[in-house]
Amino acid sequence: MVVMVEGLVTNAVNYGETDKMLTLITRQYGKLNVYSRGGRRISSKFMSGSLKFTYGDYVINKTDKLNILQEASPKMSFFGLHKDLSSSALADYICEVLTDVTMPEEPDTEALDLCLNCLYVLSENKHEPDAVKAVFEWKMIERLGVYPDLSGCRKCGRADKEWYYLDIMNGELTCRDCGSPEDRITDPEENGTARITVLMSGAEVYAANRIMNSEKSKTFSLPKDKGVRKRLSEVSEKYLLNHLERSYKTLDFYKEISKLQ
Ligand SMILES: [Zn+2]
Repeated sequence: MVVMVEGLVTNAVNYGETDKMLTLITRQYGKLNVYSRGGRRISSKFMSGSLKFTYGDYVINKTDKLNILQEASPKMSFFGLHKDLSSSALADYICEVLTDVTMPEEPDTEALDLCLNCLYVLSENKHEPDAVKAVFEWKMIERLGVYPDLSGCRKCGRADKEWYYLDIMNGELTCRDCGSPEDRITDPEENGTARITVLMSGAEVYAANRIMNSEKSKTFSLPKDKGVRKRLSEVSEKYLLNHLERSYKTLDFYKEISKLQ
């Protein structure tokens, strides 16, 4: 069956001397592995459409065994990503998470749009990478349906406290005044429990809530305080990775690069 799809190349692995195997996240069929015959050749009509981070229209011969690329018309290539190592490392991580959460035949256009929006902002250098990472992760937490209740302390209900403990697996906040010793556990190994807790300031809770509930156009209205933005990214990372139950080498690489800059 020949199909027309719109999608983003989230990974492109060399195959043989001249070919590539693409991972394409599409609006129509979710995740597709697509064979790009000759996609490595500069003279190939598939070359530009077979590059990682390219978004475009694709015509694919979809069979039970193999999906074969027949036409590629790139619309966006996010060239800016290749100018900065930190941005391209973060884009790799963003694409890997999107690839992980998108299933074959189950398109998630909102997750795809979130990823495209983040790649655009990174490519155009509109916000610092850590802020883009925080927005991507908090929004992805919301997309996955595992978002925490950040409306206030689960015990006293107050939303105006200075400090809270966030229980990562249960997605609940407890203010520092109501917190029992259990709420303060931050190292599950040491305490022999699966509870994972992080401390968040009231400003961080407010900002995270705002990102998750924001309209698309206001997603990047972030706190001015750089420290708050950095902490937001640390908490979202811990939350997302614990719920996805995995780690990412691409993320480790991004963090290594960030330390050097
Ligand atoms: Zn409380």
